[in-house]
Amino acid sequence: MTYALTITHLYPVEMNIYGDRGNVLTLCKRMEWRGITANVVDVGVGEPFDPSRTDIVFAGGGQDRGQVAVGLDLQSRTDALLEAAEAGVVMLVVCGTYQLFGRRFQTLEGHDIPGIGLFKADTIGSTQRLIGNVTIETRWGPMVGFENHSGQTTLDPGEAALGDVIKGYGNNATDKVEGALHHNVHGTYLHGPVLPRNPAFADHLIGTAMRRRYDVELLEPLDDTLERAAAKVVMDAPR
Ligand code: GLN
Repeated sequence: MTYALTITHLYPVEMNIYGDRGNVLTLCKRMEWRGITANVVDVGVGEPFDPSRTDIVFAGGGQDRGQVAVGLDLQSRTDALLEAAEAGVVMLVVCGTYQLFGRRFQTLEGHDIPGIGLFKADTIGSTQRLIGNVTIETRWGPMVGFENHSGQTTLDPGEAALGDVIKGYGNNATDKVEGALHHNVHGTYLHGPVLPRNPAFADHLIGTAMRRRYDVELLEPLDDTLERAAAKVVMDAPR
């Protein structure tokens, strides 16, 4: 039996800061090391895309300016993305796209960018930029990353976060929670990129997609010594 998964990289040009593209490379490598073929499809603003037909959707962070065009484009994809999310399609959205998967992002200049409302959350730009190393506790163990955002996100009561903040800010300066989780859709402020240094989380995304597509979870363990050492550097670093 041969296995292949399709990864859709949404907005690779418009939303790609702090090497967020590295998340796609990590997914591909960890699949390839196990003999799973990775087919990567880039989808930019205005390009056709059926989220129900892909296995993993990834989209990264970006500047407020770039988020305006992406926000508009996402509006035309709202129903398709919400349906795919309900059907269990695996998604990882980082920072700028995470904000637009909530209901709205009001930038510091007062520009209101509507989101798709997949996460029950609002984001408001603040004069305090939240910058630095982050460590969070999650169901996949401790996760690390780097954050840099003016937007502060507040989840509605009952909306699940990705993790609890141990170091850094996360969603905002007060709540001590990071990211959001809805079905198999994961939102996070963690750059770095996030997946190379958090292999258990990367494998969770691949494993969930493999279960959906092939009804098997055959992920062989990999030697993650280097990845764990890289994560420790962030955990031990001052903010
Ligand atoms: N422009 C957004 C903000 O500053 C998102 C930043 C990002 O993606 N790193 O809040």
